[in-house]
Amino acid sequence: MEKILLLGFADQASSKLLAEGATVAANLAASLGCSWEVALIGEKVQEAANTLGGSGAAKFYGVEGEDFAFARYSSDLPAAEALLKESQATVILVPGSSRANRVLSALAMRLGGRADTHITSVTAKEGKVLANRWFYRQRMEACFSRPQRPWVMGLEPGNVVPQAFSASSVQVQMLSVALPDAAKRTKVLGLKYPAGTAQTIRPDAKLLFVAGAGWTKKQADGQIHAGEAEKAILDFLGKAQASLGSTKSLVDQSGEGNAVLSFMTHLNQVGQTGSTPRHSKGLATCCHGEEPHVVGWRFVTERRAVNMDANCGWARGKTDVLYVADAFEVMKKVNEILSA
Ligand SMILES: Cc1cc2nc3c(=O)[nH]c(=O)nc-3n(C[C@H](O)[C@H](O)[C@H](O)COP(=O)(O)OP(=O)(O)OC[C@H]3O[C@@H](n4cnc5c(N)ncnc54)[C@H](O)[C@@H]3O)c2cc1C
Repeated sequence: MEKILLLGFADQASSKLLAEGATVAANLAASLGCSWEVALIGEKVQEAANTLGGSGAAKFYGVEGEDFAFARYSSDLPAAEALLKESQATVILVPGSSRANRVLSALAMRLGGRADTHITSVTAKEGKVLANRWFYRQRMEACFSRPQRPWVMGLEPGNVVPQAFSASSVQVQMLSVALPDAAKRTKVLGLKYPAGTAQTIRPDAKLLFVAGAGWTKKQADGQIHAGEAEKAILDFLGKAQASLGSTKSLVDQSGEGNAVLSFMTHLNQVGQTGSTPRHSKGLATCCHGEEPHVVGWRFVTERRAVNMDANCGWARGKTDVLYVADAFEVMKKVNEILSA
């Protein structure tokens, strides 16, 4: 009989991550007919535990204190190890974040188990736990199981609709984990983001707005209008609260001495050598729609594009609607409508 543990961090309660993990854990436990528990690490864990009061978790464990407030391999790992040993769980579900993913493999190693990250779903068939994940830059999806236990799985965010669990006060069994001085040498002083990116990449936005190199190319008047492009794009992003994606050509331009959009970085790049965002809608502007770019749109279900070229890549079955138009004019009009 499996025993499931949701292992998370207290700061994941304010994002959807903890509720997503709890949703996966509750569904898996129901399919297997087994119980599931919650273990949390953080400066203070009670509040985060309470958010899962009505989730059906059988038991709550915690490791808390100043030493566990921030992501640090040398303190997170012994905390996670102590929690796992106490719970004796066989399947460990961890909401994926950079903090969590950093310790998963070492955790499994210490306990003689196995770890997998970027798991998109966990199900049960005939009493067997099955995990899904993508390989080869999201081209192939595998469904697999493992005989080794504990099996530690990092869950990719955004793959389940988190259940709205009712909150209530829960009893948390606190474990004390003593850290040697050597484990406390690293201190997190703050978080820094690349300029511009923090404001433009919004994974939870409904719309992905992609800007292509056309925004910085010579237009019908023979001139480049990069300043106007920046204004139109930022205006739209602010009004629609959309997330900003880019083509490789546009983000590469700064290195080639061409006109650039100042807020664009390589983190915005969508495609084969960029990211594969999961927004439900996408709007591509001044972007040709070549395959290495469009492959990054795999999970974007409703697609539209604005391009002056009726024969661009998008026209070849890659978008639901192609507006053959000047994106400068289209976005100006869209921004006017949004302002009104
Ligand atoms: C191995 C490999 C990996 C790659 N990985 C990626 C990747 O991850 N992501 C990625 O994006 N690319 C990737 N590429 C590059 C990709 O093949 C294309 O070169 C790139 O996506 C083109 O970018 P673009 O559409 O912005 O630019 P362009 O091809 O220059 O297209 C600009 C478009 O803007 C349009 N346009 C211009 N002015 C206007 C206007 N006023 N209104 C409307 N439309 C206008 C033009 O008609 C044109 O279609 C990769 C290539 C290779 C070989």
